Amino acid sequence: MNRAIQVTRSSMPNLVDYIEEIKELWDSRWLTNAGIKHNQLENTLKQYLKTPNISLFSNGHLALEYAIEAFQLTGEVITTPFTFASTVHAIVRKGLTPVFCDINAEDYTIQTDHLERLITEKTTAIIPVHVYGNICNFREIERIAKKYNLKVIYDAAHAFGITVDGESVANFGDASMFSFHATKVFHTVEGGALTYGNTDLVPYLNALKNFGITGPEHVEYVGGNAKMNEFQAAMGLCNLRYIDDEITSRKIIYERYVEQLYDVEGIKLSLPSPNLKSNYAYFPVLFDHHSLTRDAVHDVLLQQNIYTRKYFYPLINDFSCYQGKFTPTCTPVAQKIAEKILTLPLYAHLHLDDVDRICRIIKSKLVLT
Ligand SMILES: *Cc1c(COP(=O)(O)O)cnc(C)c1O
Repeated sequence: MNRAIQVTRSSMPNLVDYIEEIKELWDSRWLTNAGIKHNQLENTLKQYLKTPNISLFSNGHLALEYAIEAFQLTGEVITTPFTFASTVHAIVRKGLTPVFCDINAEDYTIQTDHLERLITEKTTAIIPVHVYGNICNFREIERIAKKYNLKVIYDAAHAFGITVDGESVANFGDASMFSFHATKVFHTVEGGALTYGNTDLVPYLNALKNFGITGPEHVEYVGGNAKMNEFQAAMGLCNLRYIDDEITSRKIIYERYVEQLYDVEGIKLSLPSPNLKSNYAYFPVLFDHHSLTRDAVHDVLLQQNIYTRKYFYPLINDFSCYQGKFTPTCTPVAQKIAEKILTLPLYAHLHLDDVDRICRIIKSKLVLT
């Protein structure tokens, strides 16, 4: 049996670099609450993401929940069901109602032609998702949001470091949420961030994620706890030094997949548009073959000890926790994509030989079926 190939593996900095980074913490004994590493990471990320304001969080999901709270959203929020559980859970956990908009068949992001007719007098925001690092039609979303006075918070968990025509995705909409989970292109083990334009929100968000405390004897808000600690931030500082190498390594693997799969009958790829500097976070393949299903490809690869992921499947409308809870908005494209999409193994140190083997197995199966 061949050695297992996982769908993703975390990138690690050199152990000595990390030890060097955390050494100071043994002297300072300041382990969390806006410590030196936390503040350093905020500053370096601000530069890297070219954003005026950033707040770090213990994870991406809480960053999104706190954004919803900070913008004081109420009523209905428009999003798509073709996303990770976190996006919709955050809306529901903050007491709001998600309204599902369908996605584009080409890039799997929110279909802006469908957006306006979903807006009601209860709608307060749109939470679009940059799925697999494919960037939403942000100009059209901005136009609609302005027209109806809606907030826009991007789920940019997949979009770290991406620029469109040289413009950082961190600056689209009112805010963007990034995830620094261990499986993401840039990580702090667990972690996340919000980037946003309104500087007035900086002290508010900093207080909200620390129990609403605004001074030694002042608690102004009913906040929670979602702070990033010093060990997470130290991991981030180390990983950020290698981020360009990380993305370059991913690009090489990504292009090897494209080279071998782009003209194969029964396969559809969604490649980054030319005006975009991608981060090569995922390699999604749509299996649209006359007889071989996505599930069959998944199983064939699994037999060879190759792990792929049905990502995103099932659709959020089909989660058992949401059964019968929401008006079943029609999202036929999302339904179809969720049944046909498979993400292939992709991480910085995946061997090109393994990419070749994965493609060989897929192609031989497609031809034989
Ligand atoms: C990873 C992810 C999240 C959640 O981020 P965490 O840091 O794991 O909490 C949210 N949305 C999407 C699309 C993600 O991929």
